[in-house]
Amino acid sequence: MKFIADCHLGKIAKYLRIFGFNTLYFQSIDDDDIIEIAQKEERFLLTSDKILFQRMKHHDALYLVHAGFEEQLKEIFHHYKLFDKTRPLSRCIKCNGELEKIEKLEIIEELKAKTRKYFDTFEKCKECGTVYWHGDHYKNMLKFVDEFIAQNKKETKF
Ligand SMILES: [Zn+2]
Repeated sequence: MKFIADCHLGKIAKYLRIFGFNTLYFQSIDDDDIIEIAQKEERFLLTSDKILFQRMKHHDALYLVHAGFEEQLKEIFHHYKLFDKTRPLSRCIKCNGELEKIEKLEIIEELKAKTRKYFDTFEKCKECGTVYWHGDHYKNMLKFVDEFIAQNKKETKF
């Protein structure tokens, strides 16, 4: 299941990536281009722009009626039944690339002294090379993922 988020949904795109969903996002992109990418790559378009939504076939797009970030995220999760499809922290938040485990020795030169000292598990983005480790930021994201799923999975209607 692949998505493309419109340029108003940067935070949504970031969090879908955190949950492990293949999600494209561009800070600035023409409607024609976003539609073309969605169709060519068979991505569901997520949008809060009614005009853009109306230009897509309705089953290929979701118009987000809510305004707040968490409400929108819930809307997407319920609509596409994503709760059982997550692969948390398997994608790069910056570029949507897939992450792969990497040996500490391979990247030890790139690490700051504290990271080198306290962390042993690392992943690297196959696309942009960003290195991730399981520090506080990682743990906070994982906590958000777990809580979001636990709190919202049972709600059948939204
Ligand atoms: Zn990346």
